[in-house]
Amino acid sequence: MTFQLPTTCPICQETLAPDRSLDNHLVGSHTHHEIRNHTHRETASNAVSTQSLDD
Ligand SMILES: [Zn+2]
Repeated sequence: MTFQLPTTCPICQETLAPDRSLDNHLVGSHTHHEIRNHTHRETASNAVSTQSLDD
């Protein structure tokens, strides 16, 4: 995927600017606890993208 559609945060429903990545938003605006609580209910593919946050 080279073209990024506008992303809506699954936690706070905020629409991110096209040049902002969801990962950056999650790290900057949400705690790991929030992210983990949310992604726990999401699909496995979504959880994969958050593994890098769990450092
Ligand atoms: Zn958010």
